[in-house]
Amino acid sequence: MRKKRVIKVGNVFIGGDYPVSVQTMTKFRTSEIGSVLKQIKKIEQTGGEIVRLSVLDKNDAESIAHIKKNTKLPLVADIHYDWKLAIDTMESGVDKIRINPSNIQKSGLINIIKEAKKKNIPIRLGLNSGSIRITPRGLVKDIVDAAIGAIKLCEDLDFFDIVISLKTPGVVETIECYRAIHEMYDYPLHLGVTEAGLGDTGLVKNALGIGILLSEGIGNTIRISLTDSPEKEVKVGQAILQALGLRKFYPEIISCPICGRCQVPLKKILLTFKNRIMRMLKKYPELKNFTIAIMGCSVNGPGEAKQADIGIAGGKDRFALFARGSIIGTYSTEEIEEAFFNQLKEMLHG
Ligand code: SF4
Repeated sequence: MRKKRVIKVGNVFIGGDYPVSVQTMTKFRTSEIGSVLKQIKKIEQTGGEIVRLSVLDKNDAESIAHIKKNTKLPLVADIHYDWKLAIDTMESGVDKIRINPSNIQKSGLINIIKEAKKKNIPIRLGLNSGSIRITPRGLVKDIVDAAIGAIKLCEDLDFFDIVISLKTPGVVETIECYRAIHEMYDYPLHLGVTEAGLGDTGLVKNALGIGILLSEGIGNTIRISLTDSPEKEVKVGQAILQALGLRKFYPEIISCPICGRCQVPLKKILLTFKNRIMRMLKKYPELKNFTIAIMGCSVNGPGEAKQADIGIAGGKDRFALFARGSIIGTYSTEEIEEAFFNQLKEMLHG
């Protein structure tokens, strides 16, 4: 079953033909309202679309009312153990609840579902390998079975406003879990590889787990899990979606890896250009549709630069500038920045 039903979370739609949204989570206690709001502002500026907040006690739950007044981003309350906190966050006006069905008693789950139904608030059933009792049937079957049980509980109570996630720290297991549940239900799926960790290995786990599923048409919203800032999680999520051609956030910058043939300071130029291009995006949103090539030498440089909307190719201490397939001129390393950005602005204005 491929097409998913649509769930509304604040002003964001998940499922159907809606674009895959990027969400993240704050890293402060929710009752530290000032710090949380500062972090949410940064998330919003980076392009995050949904924010999740940990709710450990009544103070956290009640803080959501104040946070909600100060942000447009939809807020999700992350609830474990205590069903009453879910009810409190619904009172505070939260846009969605995430519960882990494995760590809340059935009677508590029923109370949450009934209240969410009354208040028209969607619930994510967020299964996680860390809180599943593993049987000889194996991790994947156990998580999928736990999800089926939680979904049945919702359906028995006539509640269908649900999003599902089945996360494990393993890429292969996570993919298997999502593939299985995707075939069974039309509820939208929230993708994530949980506890993916730090740095390069964390990035690769997220990119593979989420990327492979998305490339199969599975997944409606994503959360990157990194031991890093929420903004970093959002940026990586956007990069995955853009690499798969599912969404466009910024121009495609093609740059060569640089080798011994390069006779220009390409890395320095690339970083300068990239920063300037990203700053220009606010003023020229159409820039996100551009392809820009920054290449080191004549081997692949002129070809890539001609195929891009605009590009440069290094030579002996000089660059050739190309726009829409034609050469514009050649410039010294000192001149190329001005020539490139003048040409780019002309294209954006024209
Ligand atoms: S474009 Fe030229 S400098 Fe860049 S990696 Fe290829 S051969 Fe090396």
